[in-house]
Amino acid sequence: MYSIDQLLETIRDRNVESLRLQFTDIQGLVKSVSIPATRLGKALDSGTGFDGSSIEGFARIQESDMLLRPDISSFAILPWRARENRNVARLICDVYKPNGQPFEGDPRYVLKRAMKKAEEMGYSMNVGPELEFFLFNMENGRATTRPHDFAGYFDFGPVDLAEEIRREIVLALTDMGFKIEASHHEVARGQHEIDFTYGEALRTADNVVTFKYVTRTIAMKNGLAATFMPKPIYGAAGSGMHVNISLFRGEENAFFDPDAKMQLSDLARHFAGGLLEHAPAITAVTNPLINSYKRLVSGFEAPVYIGWSGPNRSSLIRVPSGRGLSTRLEFRSPDPSCSPYLGFAAILAAGLDGVKRKIDPGDPVDMNIYELSDEERDRLGIKLLPSNLREALDRLEEDRIVRDALGEHVFANFMRLGSLEWKMYNNFVHPWEVERYINTI
Ligand code: ADP
Ligand code: MG
Ligand code: MG
Ligand code: MG
Ligand code: MG
Repeated sequence: MYSIDQLLETIRDRNVESLRLQFTDIQGLVKSVSIPATRLGKALDSGTGFDGSSIEGFARIQESDMLLRPDISSFAILPWRARENRNVARLICDVYKPNGQPFEGDPRYVLKRAMKKAEEMGYSMNVGPELEFFLFNMENGRATTRPHDFAGYFDFGPVDLAEEIRREIVLALTDMGFKIEASHHEVARGQHEIDFTYGEALRTADNVVTFKYVTRTIAMKNGLAATFMPKPIYGAAGSGMHVNISLFRGEENAFFDPDAKMQLSDLARHFAGGLLEHAPAITAVTNPLINSYKRLVSGFEAPVYIGWSGPNRSSLIRVPSGRGLSTRLEFRSPDPSCSPYLGFAAILAAGLDGVKRKIDPGDPVDMNIYELSDEERDRLGIKLLPSNLREALDRLEEDRIVRDALGEHVFANFMRLGSLEWKMYNNFVHPWEVERYINTI
């Protein structure tokens, strides 16, 4: 995108005074340090130091000196930070150890490593995520669970009070280089979706991270809280992040085969086979919160069973109707609370394992899986996704392929943090229990 000369020119022309150097921790949270634009040369030459032991899932205290190296192609001006004609821009960074090696705990590095494996097989992975989120009213500076409007799927003003805010989000994202495809009100009250055009996996993971903080920032400017929490309201639809996936060989979509059954290539079928086989372990990565599992229940178009299908929205993998360049698998379990870097890396490794081992996904199940009886599901061999975080972590521990995709460093920290979260949750006495038992037992 940007060469170094173009970058310096833009910084001069647009009067960019400071740069936000960004990266993410293993839970997907964005970290940022601000430097004056005049320090860019030094940051590019020798990196910018930071204390890795203060970042969740990074280094131990004895080996905490780490370096950020900006990826100049990620340069983008933050539109809401403009003051008069002075600007602030961000650069997404890779994390390096003092010895000059990439840091294995950097989620961006984990995804790059997975993409390299695909490249060696002759493929590049394209990803198109669909992020859903809620807009809630705020009280005393904190989010409530009171939806900002009372509209539903595809509703249009005046009931959809968020039209203006969605527009503002879309404009900010567009200024930052996103190609927006659609934005609409979602099923639940106060729930929305904004879709942007798919692209190469690393750039898209960067975009997911950007999307979330742009959305939250613009909402905040309007006095609202945007949240990507997977299931904020019991009984209402949760927020997912469907991940549309295709493998390209050069300019060609290698999932498309006009002469094959469903016009899906063997490559696409085997990729689906790999996703189905490794789905339980992937879930730990793509659905990393206690709360994620409250979304994965029947009745809200979220997947519960491990199966694939044509247009059926009850299955884990749907094959949307587009063909040619748009031929893709839609993996429907992920939610927007995950690290997109780790999530895409797990998905890619699982799919490629299916390709290598030619895993047959079986026949697609083109009926509403929720409506089948347990016996029918058993007969069709349809298994369940993990129903809670503990189960998902256990399945991750058993799965060599997904574990290796994360690498030992990330895997170990991921298990440690997840297990801690599970323990805290289980030991806590929740309002639900008190209300249910205190007067009757
Ligand atoms: P849905 O019908 O599931 O609501 P959307 O229209 O909201 O689907 O989103 C579809 C997503 O799929 C978009 O982000 C789009 O860019 C993406 N997409 C289209 N073609 C491909 C492809 N070949 N590979 C990956 N993603 C793709
Ligand atoms: Mg959609
Ligand atoms: Mg749509
Ligand atoms: Mg949706
Ligand atoms: Mg979708």
